[in-house]
Amino acid sequence: MHKYAEVIIDLVSNAVDRPFHYSIPTHLQGKLEPGMQVTVPLGNRRTQGFVLRLLKETAVESLRDIIAIKDPEPLLTKEQLALAHWLAMRWYCRKIDALHAMIPASFRKEKRPKKPQVIEATAAAFGADLKRAPAQREAVSILLGKGPLSRNKLIQQGVKAETIRTLEKKGLVQSITVSSGQIKKEKAAPSTRPHLMRDEQAGCFEQLSTALGLPGAQKMLLHGVTASGKTEIYMQGIARCLEQDRTALIMVPEISLTPQMIEHFEGRFPGLVAVLHSRLTVSEKNRQWQAILSGEARVVLGARSAVFAPLAAIGLIIIDEEHETTYKQEDTPRYHARDVAWWRARYNRAVLLLGSATPSLESYYQSMEDDTLLLSMKERVTPTQLPPVKVVDMRRELKENHRHIFSRLLLEELNGVIERDEQALLFINRRGFAGFVLCRECGYVVRCPSCDVSLTLHKDRELMCCHYCAHEAPVPQTCPGCGGIKIRYFSAGTQRVEDEVRKLYPAVSLIRMDRDTTSSREAHSNYYRQFKDRKASILIGTQMIAKGFDFPGVTLVGVVAADTTLNLPDFRAPERTFQLLTQVSGRTARGPKGGKVIVQTYHPSHYSILAAADHDYITFYEKELENRRQLAYPPFSDLIRFLFSSEDEKAVFEAANWFTDLLEPFGASAELMGPAPASLYRIKEQYRVQTILKGKSLTRLAPAIRKVIREYHTHKPPWPVRLAVDFNPQVVL
Ligand SMILES: [Zn+2]
Ligand SMILES: [Zn+2]
Repeated sequence: MHKYAEVIIDLVSNAVDRPFHYSIPTHLQGKLEPGMQVTVPLGNRRTQGFVLRLLKETAVESLRDIIAIKDPEPLLTKEQLALAHWLAMRWYCRKIDALHAMIPASFRKEKRPKKPQVIEATAAAFGADLKRAPAQREAVSILLGKGPLSRNKLIQQGVKAETIRTLEKKGLVQSITVSSGQIKKEKAAPSTRPHLMRDEQAGCFEQLSTALGLPGAQKMLLHGVTASGKTEIYMQGIARCLEQDRTALIMVPEISLTPQMIEHFEGRFPGLVAVLHSRLTVSEKNRQWQAILSGEARVVLGARSAVFAPLAAIGLIIIDEEHETTYKQEDTPRYHARDVAWWRARYNRAVLLLGSATPSLESYYQSMEDDTLLLSMKERVTPTQLPPVKVVDMRRELKENHRHIFSRLLLEELNGVIERDEQALLFINRRGFAGFVLCRECGYVVRCPSCDVSLTLHKDRELMCCHYCAHEAPVPQTCPGCGGIKIRYFSAGTQRVEDEVRKLYPAVSLIRMDRDTTSSREAHSNYYRQFKDRKASILIGTQMIAKGFDFPGVTLVGVVAADTTLNLPDFRAPERTFQLLTQVSGRTARGPKGGKVIVQTYHPSHYSILAAADHDYITFYEKELENRRQLAYPPFSDLIRFLFSSEDEKAVFEAANWFTDLLEPFGASAELMGPAPASLYRIKEQYRVQTILKGKSLTRLAPAIRKVIREYHTHKPPWPVRLAVDFNPQVVL
């Protein structure tokens, strides 16, 4: 008999970030299960906690009793408990943060809604002879013993879905609706049928289908150009998976999760789709969650956090646009959905399918190293061609005395669009506010000699600084590349572009979309609709407009300054540039009139710009991989970033130095860089300083690093400094 329980306290605090042992009072023995929420004493108060496991014995003395069980059913599944443990270890978070990630807050705190559908044994089951069918007998005895259970619960008890179906056919069990369905819509989405696939598409689907028939976990990368019909493969893969009585999870970036997309999936799998994203109200979220738990929803469509959806018997996990940085959570727990998905695929022996037109270097590298099966699609579904991309050399514009923000070519094309009453999209990346120094005459950018990232200008100190290794250099008066004097701070924003367009075309209507103009959700979809309905001729925007938008009227895409992305002080800058240019190119040539892309840059011969212009991923990949290899950046290494922040500038450096000294022993097997001011040195009154550890397979150091972090939290001098630890950060600004 288990007399003790290991409990994690439900308080977000480093002080209680360890399991506590409690004894189970007699009246609760036999009722307690791992994953349950319990009330326990802590000091002189009562608090909530989660049972991690039950113990037969413990070395801890003078234990206190568990006070009560909150709900007779465990809130967390066995899989979620195991996943939370892995999450805390891999991503350096508190166990409670990891557990919280598994369940929506509303679900933890409030009383859960009633289950909509449960399976119960029928009267016939009492007298049925099931001696020769031990699996069915077991299932019936569970139901008779425990009463009606949801399909999911029954499967968790070890009953196969197939067995339940057989019993249903025999009339020995039936599913009954306890309350009205949770995911039923008042108005059903128009149903859609599977499309006939092209040869290339069918070939990829064949391979996916084969993988779904295999017993083990499998990772696949679907590399398909924009509009090559990846979604149809996803849908038919999901259908195959449902036929096998398994469930499916599909993740898309939050911004792509439009009503149209949701309708598309609901139409294909009516009554089976739960949708999870951040705009749901609390009750909507609870309903969706409940529908998944009960087994009513067998397909989950959602953004990043949907990766934790409590689906049982997952057969297929799909991550669309797998290269997107939004799959990495930037707050605690700082997990990457791709890694979590792969963990779950292995746990469930499922297929993980990653899809992208511009796969992340990490994923593509794995497909070359045979860890992942590569599927490629090079043709578009519709006969339209990929648009021609023209690269404009802005240094030349200057040399020939054209100083406007728009090159002569872009102006000419814009005039054409307006004359012909077509639509244009002007794109400017404004990510990060970090400024860099660029020579207008030759395109030279001052970079760190050892890290190859651009140096960030700190205006107040008149210095440029590498925020990886802390290398400093004065701002040059003349260009080290060409000796010219037009070397200065570079920045460009959407507001500036808007002003210029208004000056040029006062009578033309335009829309600007960026974080300032679309703070509300409605604004975003309003602008989208207005532009789609051709109420405006020009749309100006940030990366927000680069994704998923499909406007047949757009015949021109102008990238105003590719340099803002290319020179981000981040080792992934060339990769981001390639992805972004490919994505914006995909926004045109969708209609019968075709389209054109114009890219303005001071680096017209940079490989990521040339490769994007040629729609040539492989060339880009090979070049970029070689650079990463030489500088030992991922995928050839792991990075751990320790970010310190505080309103007190002196304290933040002292804390960073104190901590970095503790990391010194790791310098033997990994490269220790910093502390250095972060590229975004001051955000919301907070000074930010970082130390980076770079090396091969750093996961092996995790236990030792966790000790150092604990040391920091318990023994650091009393600085008011926050420490955030990030394993393989996607954005290092
Ligand atoms: Zn450096
Ligand atoms: Zn120069």
